[in-house]
Formats: sequence, C-alpha cells, structure tokens
Amino acid sequence: MFIKKYLEEFRLFATSGNMFDLALGVIIGAAFSTVVDSLSTDIIGDFIAALGGVPDMSGLTVPFLKGQIHVGKFLNTLIGFLIKAAVLFGLVKIIMKLKLANFRAQGSRECPYCREFIPVDAIKCKHCTADVKAVIDGDEGADER
Ligand SMILES: [Zn+2]
Repeated sequence: MFIKKYLEEFRLFATSGNMFDLALGVIIGAAFSTVVDSLSTDIIGDFIAALGGVPDMSGLTVPFLKGQIHVGKFLNTLIGFLIKAAVLFGLVKIIMKLKLANFRAQGSRECPYCREFIPVDAIKCKHCTADVKAVIDGDEGADER
C-alpha cells in the first residue's frame, strides 16, 4: 500500500518534465565545464606558460619557506572561471534580447509605507497599493503591461 503510493508519486515526479529539465541542465553544464577547463588549462594556460618560458602553467610555483605555492594551478582555475562567467553572462543577454525566457528580478524588499515585503522590481505595493520606486528595473515590457 505504502510502496504503491510511493511509486505512483515517483512516477508523477519523474514524468513531470522538471526532472528531465534539471538532469539535462546538470549534464550539459558539466560537459560545458569540462570543455572550458580544458580550454583554460590546455590552450590558454599552456600559451601563457610558453610565453613565460615554462612547459606547463600548472607546474608554475613560487617557493615559500620549505614548500611551494601553486600559482599556476590557481591561474588556470581563475581563467576557467572568468570564461564561464563571461559565456553565461553573454547567454543570458542573448536570451533576454530574443525574449526566449522571462527573467524576473529576484528578491524582495520592504515597502516604505506598510512595511510588507514586495518584489525588488515592483512599482506599486501589492499590500497598501502605494506607488513605490523599483530598486531594480524589471524587463522593458513591464511598463506597457
Ligand atoms: Zn505597502
């Protein structure tokens, strides 16, 4: 009885689409991450290392006391992060421009009149109906609605 209910709930969850969207996002994200890591380590890192006269940037270390600080490894990671951040930012910009998805500003703030919490991009309080100034601009279409 319990197991039948559990299986039924799982079937609804698994076929609702959300799980597939999530799994797809995670798998594509991981694959993208691997490619960017390789680009930053094997292409850009090695290019910088070659300019600096060393064969591999991850081997670039600074001696410190009796040990060594792995500056090259950190630089590889930093370059990879910057590339991922830039690509994601560009993707969001393109998606917003093509209006493929509705990006709403996240978060809430306090209404200065009634002290209830309202969205950051609200221009009218939903509780006391006072006009408030948006802390963050919503999408351009918001004014026409
Ligand atoms: Zn209010």
